[in-house]
This record gives sequence, structure tokens and C-alpha cells, in this order.
Amino acid sequence: MTTLRDLPSVEQLLQTQTAAELIAHYGRTLTLRAIRSTLDKIRARFNTGEITNLPLRDLILAEAETLVVEWTNPTLRSVINATGVILHTNLGRAPLSAATIHAMDSVSRGYSNLEYDLEKGARGSRLIHAESVLQRLTGAEAAIVVNNNASAVLLVLSALANKKRVVISRSQLVEIGGGFRVPDVMKQSGAKLVEIGTTNKTHLADYEAELQEPDALVMRVHSSNFKIIGFTEVPELKDIVELAHKLDSFVVDDLGSGALLDTAKYGFAHEPTVQESLAAGVDVVCFSGDKLLGGPQAGIIIGKKELIDKIKKHPLARAVRADKACLAGVSATLMHYLKDEAEREIPIWKMMSLTLKQIRGRAEAWRNQLGQGDIVEGESTVGGGSLPTESIPTFLLSLSVKSPDKFLKRLREQNPPIIARTENDKILLDPRTVLPEYEGALLVGLKNTLKP
Ligand SMILES: *Cc1c(COP(=O)(O)O)cnc(C)c1O
Repeated sequence: MTTLRDLPSVEQLLQTQTAAELIAHYGRTLTLRAIRSTLDKIRARFNTGEITNLPLRDLILAEAETLVVEWTNPTLRSVINATGVILHTNLGRAPLSAATIHAMDSVSRGYSNLEYDLEKGARGSRLIHAESVLQRLTGAEAAIVVNNNASAVLLVLSALANKKRVVISRSQLVEIGGGFRVPDVMKQSGAKLVEIGTTNKTHLADYEAELQEPDALVMRVHSSNFKIIGFTEVPELKDIVELAHKLDSFVVDDLGSGALLDTAKYGFAHEPTVQESLAAGVDVVCFSGDKLLGGPQAGIIIGKKELIDKIKKHPLARAVRADKACLAGVSATLMHYLKDEAEREIPIWKMMSLTLKQIRGRAEAWRNQLGQGDIVEGESTVGGGSLPTESIPTFLLSLSVKSPDKFLKRLREQNPPIIARTENDKILLDPRTVLPEYEGALLVGLKNTLKP
């Protein structure tokens, strides 16, 4: 009769060639833990009568290997975005340009002059690296790059608005997502929130009334992820700025996305640009690095030198500072704009500027490779809390499958996982957001999933 005594010991299993290979790959600690854990499970199954025969050594080791593979697989992985949502926040927002990846890679590999002045041979400032390109690109007097735009807003308000009154239109008291609420951030910074106007209408006179009082500044927040339509009004930014300056105050503008190119050129509505805010005379503008800028996660703050200097000196600036890879990446992405090559080099602008003919061509090529599917008209969107009601036409590969939800799940189980959507029981795949270098993997994954 089989008893648990017939089960090989940990020591016996460790003597095998397979265990040696596992140790070489995954280290002794994990291998040992996986073998012990596997043996424990087998004992438990045997004791409960779930199994009556004990597995052979090879099978035990295979089970242990499954465990170490699972334990060492990173949870954060590349996926293929076939949703047609260009800045998908859940899928990591903007993919980076080749030059940006190269810059981040080379600065991470070794040492750099991050805080070292090569001319003087002495300590330098990390802030100068992205600042010079931002100055050249936007004409702003000064700039600072931080960890993300949420920390940029917190830092700007903490440095400039602590114990001051921040005048903001009720239509701009937004929640960005991930629980980032403008009123809460204001409270956190020590600013006193002064709400003016109503949800749909705010007039210049509302600003004027509050700015008459001392120690007040204006905050404008772009309503990135929603749109109020109908009977609505907010004053022109330049009129608010003019009023604020006349009353010895200033304006902070949280642009959110911070487009440097005009989205209207690509068939979307116009998203306010960084250049427009500066042209309106705004004193401090902040925006994200990984939304419509198309770079790595970052918060970019630009504006008047006097105010930016205060921001740079605030203790929070140290807490939310950008790391060297971020600074290198932001600079490299900005350089594409400086060189008028953003549309050619930055993936999200490349996606937006794809012609319908190009997209149709790719969808057809996929259909031909798969030997099934239809090409149908559809819509791509920007996402990432930008241009919420907007879409541009695209072509989709539409697949008819038995159980769409199960099919989507199996697509997510591919390597790399494929993220698609369904509509009216069809699986829809948008070539616009599938990076060309992932096309091969997409087709392999689709073929796997379509196999009966
Ligand atoms: C997205 C957004 C933020 C937050 O930016 P992150 O870079 O995601 O931290 C802040 N304000 C506005 C208006 C936004 O749209």
C-alpha cells in the first residue's frame, strides 16, 4: 500500500538534474521553497483522499517549476492595446519614442552629470536639464519638472498659495480620477478655497469681486475629463489674467493634458495648448508628461521666474522631484517638438495622424493573415482624461466568435496579453493603437485564440 513515506524527500529531489537547473535559474531559496510547498500540497491531497497514488519525481518537480515561474513572473507586463484608446490610463498612457527610450536607457545604465556641473567640476542642479529645452520650446522664463502633474499642482499651491485665497470657478472643481480632487488638493496645500460662479456660469465680475480682497490668486483647472454643454460661460483666460494682474494678483493654470500641438488638426476638438496659456499671460502653467505630450510620467511646471524660483525652493519640491530617467525622457520627448518632428517620432501623435487608408490597409492585412473577419468603420478616442466626448474615424477588424467575453478573456491570457473590446457580440480590434512592432505578436495571439 502506498504511504506518504514513499514520497521523495526534499534532499532527494534536490539531487536531480531538474532541481539543479531550477537553482541555476531561480536561486536556491525559491527552488527550495517551491519544492517544500509542492510536497506539502501533495501530502494534503493524499491525506484528504483527493489522490491515492503519489506522483513521480518528475511530476513533483514540474509542479515546483510552475510555482517558481509564477512567483518570478513580473506582475507589470507589456500588453497589446487594440482598444483604439490612444492614452489609455489603465494601459500606462503614452508609449515612448525611440529617442526617449534611448535617452532614459543610457542615463540609467551608468553615471551621469545629473547634479554635476561639468564646466566647473562642482555640484550642479538637476533642474537645469529639462528647463533649457522647455524655455527654448515655450519661451517660458523658467521651468521645473516633478514626478507627475498631481504633485505639480500640490507643489505649486503649497509654494504659492499657502494661507492665501485661491479663487476658482465652481465649474472647475473637478475630480481627475484615482481620487485626485482639486478641492482636496487645495486643502492639503494650505490654500483657502474660494468658489465663485455656478456649475455652468462664471463671469469676470465674479473673479473681480474676490480679487479685490488681499492675498488672492486665481486657479484655472482644465475640465479634462468631462464637458459641460448648453447654457455655459467662463471668461476668456486672457481677460482673467488681465484682471488679476491689474489687481496685483496672478493666475495658475492646471492644463492637465498640456498639448503642444493642436488636436483639431487630427479631427478632434481643440484641446487648450501650453502655448495658448502662456500667450494669455498666465503666470504658472502645469501639465502632465504622459498625456498629450506623449512622454514619460512627469509633471511640468513653467512660468514666471520669480514664481518658479519660489516653487523650486519649497521643501515639497525635493519630495516630488523627478528622477534622472524621467528628466532624460522628458527632455528627449520635448526635443521632438523643438525639431518639428513630433508627428513623425512621438507614438501618440503618429497614431493620431495615421490616415484611414493606412489603418484600413493594416486591418485588411490582419484579416488576410487570419483568414477571417470583417473590416468595419469605427471610432478611436484619445482617453487619458483628454477630449472626453471626442472621437475620430477608424477602421476595425471585427471578428465573430461564439462567446465574446470568453474570447476577450483568452486574448488577455496571450503573451503578451491582447486588450480588445466587444460591441454587439463582435470582437473589435483597432489597428490605430497597435504599435507596428507588436503586430507579429498580435497575429500569433489571435491565431492561438481562434484555434478551435
Ligand atoms: C490628469 C490631470 C491631472 C493629474 O495629472 P497626472 O500627471 O496624472 O498626475 C491634474 N490635473 C488635470 C486637470 C488633469 O487632467
